Amino acid sequence: MHPSTTGNASLRLGALEAGGTKMVMSILDQQGVMLERVSIPTRTPQETMPEMIAFFRDQQIGSLGVGCFGPLDLNPASPAYGCITATPKLDWRNYPLLDEFRRALNVPVLLDTDVNGAALAESRLGAAQGLGSCVYVTIGTGIGGGLIIGGECVHGLMHPEMGHQLLTPHPEDPSPEGFCPYHRRCLEGLASGPAIMKRWGIPAQELPEDHPAWQLEAYYLAQMCHNAMMTFSPEKIILGGGVMHKEFLFPMIREKTLELLGGYISSPAVDAGLADYIVSPGLGDNSGVMGAWLLARRAYEEGGN
Ligand code: ZN
Repeated sequence: MHPSTTGNASLRLGALEAGGTKMVMSILDQQGVMLERVSIPTRTPQETMPEMIAFFRDQQIGSLGVGCFGPLDLNPASPAYGCITATPKLDWRNYPLLDEFRRALNVPVLLDTDVNGAALAESRLGAAQGLGSCVYVTIGTGIGGGLIIGGECVHGLMHPEMGHQLLTPHPEDPSPEGFCPYHRRCLEGLASGPAIMKRWGIPAQELPEDHPAWQLEAYYLAQMCHNAMMTFSPEKIILGGGVMHKEFLFPMIREKTLELLGGYISSPAVDAGLADYIVSPGLGDNSGVMGAWLLARRAYEEGGN
């Protein structure tokens, strides 16, 4: 019998949000109701993995979904499939996350980037529900983007790394060279929380609404929205993460995106001023956990290990 039709009320699904600073482990039932949630700091794999494995073992999960910081090798044909790759967190570089969980837990496990998971959750359950395509970008300590086309996460060569697209610096940016160690003036190097902090010497959350920092921030995020619209033609752009808790940014980003589009794209979404097009996550701060839950559910339905 197909597992999703068995109505297995006792089935427990594991959802891991694997982040650079913390690991958030959740247990949900088959309907997505949260049963348990535990967070531990991210240390080395030797310290962190046994703790996570013990937790999920105790919880007797039927499967596990993992949304992880990247970059990841997600090509099933690659010998490094399921490994974390060029992360600046050196302890985790080349770590075989997927294999280790599969071996230790002996349940089906699916792995994707944290932002692809969040994009999937927003497309199934959140702001892009009923649409076949969307972009989800989180703007916080880092910047990452997930892409849904045809209802599924795009992987392709690797997976999208929208946070590292190159941008044109603003003429009034006091730090136009940017801060990304790999690309300098990419989106993350110009507009992440740490980039704002380095540019102005003040943490982003403490900058007042009338500070020039926000004009620059809106300009850079508008360039990203413009690029996403021109490249992927998504039906919705969803902006989440800590920086986007500053809700006054949304109208600023929409306005600057319209300026950059220059009247080139005609669509009802553009005619409406992008008000229902560049939006906050429908799932609030739960896009990540619901993405990992969707991966766990799929892992269970597909079976195998
Ligand atoms: Zn970069």
